[in-house]
Amino acid sequence: MPYEYDDQNIFAKILRCEIPNDTVMETDFTLAFRDITPAAPEHILVIPKGSYVNYDHFATDATDAEILDFTRVVGAITHTIKAAPNGGGNGYRLITNAGHDGVQDVPHMHMHIIAGRRLGRMIQPA
Ligand code: AMP
Repeated sequence: MPYEYDDQNIFAKILRCEIPNDTVMETDFTLAFRDITPAAPEHILVIPKGSYVNYDHFATDATDAEILDFTRVVGAITHTIKAAPNGGGNGYRLITNAGHDGVQDVPHMHMHIIAGRRLGRMIQPA
């Protein structure tokens, strides 16, 4: 079943400049900005500018150029925030939530980059 994109979601409004954001990096295809409710000292959201609901939608329907650009931006930010281990950083975590079980709140594809403190185990046992 094809995805239906809700263009009234908050990240669509950010992309249309209807609400402000704290931009970290921007390219032709990708926008990265600080999460309004950070879970750690560094918490950045990376979104494609295209209308994709979640990761599997993006991975299936985005162009190679969009996917390449998105991936490069995520990688670049790990260095910008000095979290990349090969630059002496202490590491980071990437999270992309999808759907009900993934507890996705905003239905526009986004990657969380979280860093700046020891994050603990990824998933608590049920
Ligand atoms: P998710 O649960 O994966 O959909 O995460 C959505 C994230 O968007 C949460 O971490 C929110 O804190 C964040 N968020 C919601 N509204 C804004 C906003 N206006 N600017 C920046 N981050 C936001």
